[in-house]
Amino acid sequence: MPAPGNRHDRATTATSGHAHYAPGVILLSDPRVLAVPVRECGEPLAEVTGVPGLALDPRERDGDGAFGRVREGVLTRLAAAAAALPDGLRFLVIEGYRTMAEQSRRFAAYQDHLRETGITDPAELHRQASMFVSPSEVAPHCAGAAVDLTLVDGEGTELDMGVAVNGYTGAGGKLCPFAAAGVPAAARRNRDLLAAALTGAGFVNYPTEWWHWSFGDRYWALLTGADAARYGPL
Ligand SMILES: [Zn+2]
Repeated sequence: MPAPGNRHDRATTATSGHAHYAPGVILLSDPRVLAVPVRECGEPLAEVTGVPGLALDPRERDGDGAFGRVREGVLTRLAAAAAALPDGLRFLVIEGYRTMAEQSRRFAAYQDHLRETGITDPAELHRQASMFVSPSEVAPHCAGAAVDLTLVDGEGTELDMGVAVNGYTGAGGKLCPFAAAGVPAAARRNRDLLAAALTGAGFVNYPTEWWHWSFGDRYWALLTGADAARYGPL
């Protein structure tokens, strides 16, 4: 979970409508995302572990291992994306499925943080929190449709992406958006490698986080023009 202070800066920025976000970036809190209908296909979650080309990192491990699962159709596409990577590279999955309870916990924690900054109006608390922690009903991770991931080499060493996964804090925070200005050339090439494989397999990126990709959720449907999402919250 990113440091609240840094996320509040981002919230303020987004509220005022400039700086970090390029024009046209659609946030998960956008009403157009919630307006996308869901035609739940009923696919189960499946384990990332054991799939060729995919490694699972324990840093976001939760109680029952939910973080290491995604929908079957998402896993199939992740495997296809991995097969399209240059020899010697694999995906390192940081987090897939997230339970509604965990999402609600993060949302409440962020509202608590906002309250400490002096905001008391419940509607305003919900609005500002929604900009940085997805409400559960649109949260791609809660649908088993999203994955946070990066690339590793044959030794398991992460490739340089300019800033780490979930690296909101510190000087690198401004490099989190996929298309951020100031990403060094080598890191830009690595991001492009990641994107080419995932885009080719049907995923879309959440533009404020280079590591977040999804397939079949409401955000994906909105960006691709699909008439409905395949996966709703589980
Ligand atoms: Zn994510």
